[in-house]
Amino acid sequence: MYRQKISTLLIALVLVLPLSNAFAQVDEYGFTRTERNDISAQATEPFQIFDNVYFVGIQAVASYVIKTSEGLILIDTLDGFDGFTENLLENIRTVGLDPAGIRYVIVMQAHRDHYGGLRELKPQLTDATIGMSLLDWERMEGDLGDQSIARDMIIDDGSSLTLGDTTLSFEHTPGHTAGTTSMRFSVFDDGQEYLTYFHGGSAIRTDVPEEIQRFIDDLERIQTIPNIDVTLINHSDIVPAGADDLFVRAERLKNRQAGDPHPWVAPEEWQRWLTEKIAESYEILAEAKAKQGQ
Ligand SMILES: [Zn+2]
Repeated sequence: MYRQKISTLLIALVLVLPLSNAFAQVDEYGFTRTERNDISAQATEPFQIFDNVYFVGIQAVASYVIKTSEGLILIDTLDGFDGFTENLLENIRTVGLDPAGIRYVIVMQAHRDHYGGLRELKPQLTDATIGMSLLDWERMEGDLGDQSIARDMIIDDGSSLTLGDTTLSFEHTPGHTAGTTSMRFSVFDDGQEYLTYFHGGSAIRTDVPEEIQRFIDDLERIQTIPNIDVTLINHSDIVPAGADDLFVRAERLKNRQAGDPHPWVAPEEWQRWLTEKIAESYEILAEAKAKQGQ
């Protein structure tokens, strides 16, 4: 009798367990849906990377502040879930900066994990201009409807933004969103200048062969840009195979001894990442073409 009950229970467990696992599914960064939206699971120590660059993001998504001689530029706002914007502002204060000094907010791609904080931030950052490409403004407006914030600065392909001693050079690199924006600017390590390339969205989110081809053309062109020593990334694992992710690099930076190289200055890793990304993108292109031909 008992034995039968136990075996019934076991059968029930076997049936139910895979279901509960499905609910606990993790995303590509290893977070369940709840963890990704929960600031207590996402919060992480902000830190200074260069003289003029600070990481102020969360575990799943990066956000940076660039310090210029005329104020601050915030890159991406993270999502707008409960506590996210407060945490972002607190991170900015923790690294010794004043959010009231933010003059520009640049959104590199119109996905919510990068712009979702705008609605809460915009009224608080009274001196800030919000910049995004036209196609990504349109995408955000389409997604948020009348909840969207008013259109502010449009970032054109090939345009630049100068604030005090700092110039950001923008270019459109569509493929993740239609208006994904990437940029180049100088970072400084104890006064030593390096050029950084920051790709705004490096995972292909289209199955249109022409759009994938454009994404590849951009990567191949980017690969020929000389003197890129540093890359900034918007998710921690956008690194070549086997290389340290953003947080491991942060540990190396923390423990850096005098004379050690800066962990972000890694031109070989940048080139290797591009090579891998291009190869992977050609595979995606081949699949998309095969699908189209069906
Ligand atoms: Zn995205």
